Amino acid sequence: MLKGKIDVGETIFTTMSRLSSECGAINLGQGFPDYPMDGKLVNLLTQAMHDGHNQYAPLAGIAPLRKAIAEKIDFLYGLSVDPETEVCVTPGATYAIYTAFTTVLHEGDEVIVFEPAYDSYIPNIEINGGRPVLIPLSAPDFKIDWERVREAITPRTKMIIINNPHNPSGMLLSTTDMAELSDIVLGNDLYLLSDEVYEHLVFDDQRFESVLRYPELFQRSFVTYSFGKVYHCTGWKTGYCIAPGKLMTEFKKVHQYNAFCCFSPVQFALANYLGDKEAYLGLGKFFEPKRDLLESLLSAVGLKPIPSKGSFFQLYDYSDLSNEDELSYVKRLTVEAGVSAIPVSSFYADKRNQGLLRFCFAKEDATLREAGARLKAFFES
Ligand code: PMP
Ligand code: GLN
Repeated sequence: MLKGKIDVGETIFTTMSRLSSECGAINLGQGFPDYPMDGKLVNLLTQAMHDGHNQYAPLAGIAPLRKAIAEKIDFLYGLSVDPETEVCVTPGATYAIYTAFTTVLHEGDEVIVFEPAYDSYIPNIEINGGRPVLIPLSAPDFKIDWERVREAITPRTKMIIINNPHNPSGMLLSTTDMAELSDIVLGNDLYLLSDEVYEHLVFDDQRFESVLRYPELFQRSFVTYSFGKVYHCTGWKTGYCIAPGKLMTEFKKVHQYNAFCCFSPVQFALANYLGDKEAYLGLGKFFEPKRDLLESLLSAVGLKPIPSKGSFFQLYDYSDLSNEDELSYVKRLTVEAGVSAIPVSSFYADKRNQGLLRFCFAKEDATLREAGARLKAFFES
């Protein structure tokens, strides 16, 4: 019997989405919209195929898309990146994250990971021979204790991975956090992987502290993005990585013998669409009322919201309603109430239980209302 390279089961997203569809539950678990994406972008994609853009793209992505990405970064964060040497289009952000780890990590290198952590980080580090060094963050504010980070650094520390805005907590890093992070990364010659897939999903007029606002820190960083989150098309699995030339050269060596290049037609479609700033600048204001609607519906049934400042997720504390562990509770809600979510324990290596569930509000208002009604009926029965 083959013994695979990593010892993991299926992801919580697979488990919960399957259970949810088997039960006909409303799936507020795995993060994906249930409303249509912009038809204009769909038309641009089909047009690109009709126009014959159906052969291999260049390794780093087609030049017009790389140029459009560089212009967007300059506009948003005031950083001038070279589209020739500092941008690489990838089949999704998950792939970009994996590639960055493969680029940097050698056997036994340590990577500092903040938990709760997006599920792919730890397996990606381990399969590349690295050792995750876990720093847990706690509800309700999920603040990073930077002293603890300093104490965790050893001669083997190679990299820190951050996710901002943060999945699952909805936390945002502040300017003070960025100063601490820069000090630690630069002071110890570390690399930084900044997963910024929710860059536009920021609420209450807060400023998003992208690593790309910090030119010195950027010199040690890989920064990853996902078009799936920005344009409501998670199934398109297209994203990109930004890194300074000397890091990007190495990143591309790994990419060259893996995917080599990405789906061509989508790159032509996106190159034509990226100039529409409203399509991404309006996202915070698009999602904010959905966050608030879900919060009013779930608060009414006794689930206690933890403030979400970004991403399309919000955490809820159910400890006043039940002392069941998170996984059993979320399965019971799925089967008995017809609404699914994600247990926050699945974002911690030790699967600790804090009585917290993550709900996704990237849904039609009618879907959120129906979920609220189902939960109300469940708790009143
Ligand atoms: N990072 C985080 C924090 C995410 O939530 C997700 C979810 N999709 C990804 C990366 C992956 O993005 P993609 O679908 O583009 O691979
Ligand atoms: N990013 C999505 C989430 O956190 C899940 C992506 C996946 O299923 N791998 O819900």
